[in-house]
Amino acid sequence: MNQSSPPRHAVVIGGSLAGLLAAAVLAEHATVTVVDADPLPEGPAPRRGLPQARHTHLLWSGGARAIERILPGITADWTKAGAIRRSLPTDLVTKTAQGWIPRCGEKQFNISCSRDLLDSVVRARVIALSGVSTLQGRVRALEGTAARVTGVLVDTPEEEGRLLTADLVIDASGRGSRARTWLQALGVSGIRQAEVDSGLVYATRIFEAPAGAHEMGFPIVNVQSDPRVPVPGQTATIVPIENGQWQATLSGTRGGQPTGDPDAFIPFARAVRDPIVGELLEGRKPLTDVAVTQGTANRRVYFEKAELPDGFFAVGDSVATFNPLYGQGMTVAAQGLLAVRTLLRAKGLAHPGIGREAQRVIAPQVSTAWELATSQDILYPGATGMKPRTGTGLLNGYVNRLMTGATTDEALTAALFKVLTMSTAPTHWLHPSVVWHVLRASDRGALKAPPLTAAERAVAGLDPVPGRTPGAGTNTGTGTGTATEAATGPAAEQVGPADPVDPLAQAR
Ligand SMILES: Cc1cc2nc3c(=O)[nH]c(=O)nc-3n(C[C@H](O)[C@H](O)[C@H](O)COP(=O)(O)OP(=O)(O)OC[C@H]3O[C@@H](n4cnc5c(N)ncnc54)[C@H](O)[C@@H]3O)c2cc1C
Repeated sequence: MNQSSPPRHAVVIGGSLAGLLAAAVLAEHATVTVVDADPLPEGPAPRRGLPQARHTHLLWSGGARAIERILPGITADWTKAGAIRRSLPTDLVTKTAQGWIPRCGEKQFNISCSRDLLDSVVRARVIALSGVSTLQGRVRALEGTAARVTGVLVDTPEEEGRLLTADLVIDASGRGSRARTWLQALGVSGIRQAEVDSGLVYATRIFEAPAGAHEMGFPIVNVQSDPRVPVPGQTATIVPIENGQWQATLSGTRGGQPTGDPDAFIPFARAVRDPIVGELLEGRKPLTDVAVTQGTANRRVYFEKAELPDGFFAVGDSVATFNPLYGQGMTVAAQGLLAVRTLLRAKGLAHPGIGREAQRVIAPQVSTAWELATSQDILYPGATGMKPRTGTGLLNGYVNRLMTGATTDEALTAALFKVLTMSTAPTHWLHPSVVWHVLRASDRGALKAPPLTAAERAVAGLDPVPGRTPGAGTNTGTGTGTATEAATGPAAEQVGPADPVDPLAQAR
């Protein structure tokens, strides 16, 4: 903090990932009060204000690097606490719309653990920062005028309508944020909002992993849907997390949604485009009920286009939510806050209009994720929202070709993961070196079965040679995973050795 300037105070509404990272960034310039409606637990524990934590949360390398820069050493802290750093696609068995991706050496990585663990490590680091404190309470309004926000009104367990004054207020209150309404009450109008909703429903259950799976580094297993086929999109995923557990998540768009019925969980997983997730879960001991979340629409509030008052900006899910299947939310929040840090270091907290500028520097990351998510989601039957822009079909054709090539050409696998993990902008796909490979893309020689090694199949109790299970691809009757994709034997030879990449080196 600059000792010569008057002491400044910032209030962050919401103490989840975006709020905590905002507090870390602001602590360089002000004392910070993080207000959350929940009492924030000391360790990894569920809480009311974070219901999505019951579901799989993947943090991509693009986000992990951004958080590492805000909180140096956090990756080591996560792994010490039990999180697993996975090499991508080495530690990933995934069937995209275009086919199985070979498990070549590391191109990117992700952090796998429960969301409660991920947050608890960040929380411990942030609340230990000098000048950061937390307050339990629900913010009910912004204080100020249409020209300047000067604080918030909070209902705490002890006092209703407590006024907290602030030089800067950051809204990080998530998907249910009331910031638009609060700003309207101050006289700020014309804040536009857009929504694209595929009707996606998430269902998650945690299982005990088979003995030895954790120790051997059992891969993430994921079967994606194919938005090109006009049937509801259905997916099934297993993410190995801390404590030798498998977090299994199903998803389905309108007309093909999973339910909370525990007896229907494994049959659903067996009936997506490949039955591997269902096969792996068969006979495993469930450790939780099935958690179901609806209302996962892509929603974007265009704060950056409005005449925002001074002293305010919004981050994280309050600004935009994305179809969770793409795993973008935490990364977009982290990258946006890294950009805010650069801005604040250059101009300082007292710079006139700093809130509006912060809102604008966040926007590019939001736009990229929004385009990626909504251009796919709008293709599903019954999806509601804006229609694709002219030219989107051409672009989708190019991306389709790139993804087909990624099933056989390691250079395209690298290009795919670089963008999916938000380690670079999608314009990377138009780089001449990538275009050259896309023009030659082919699926000749692509894997016909999930690339699990013989050792992994043995640990999971599967037959050494992958086979087909009757009933696969029957959820909708039109799934593209078919018996014609005959098993061709274990794909163990496709598995390349890990080639670890230093996350910090990549961030530079
Ligand atoms: C089912 C599902 C799966 C997801 N999977 C992934 C994934 O794999 N990868 C990924 O990157 N992202 C994923 N996301 C998105 C991710 O959960 C969010 O992007 C992430 O939590 C960051 O959000 P946030 O901090 O902005 O808000 P949130 O995490 O929603 O937190 C908002 C906080 O504000 C508090 N709060 C709310 N209102 C008030 C108030 N009035 N006063 C005080 N406090 C308040 C709440 O208690 C809460 O702590 C998923 C989302 C869903 C729904």
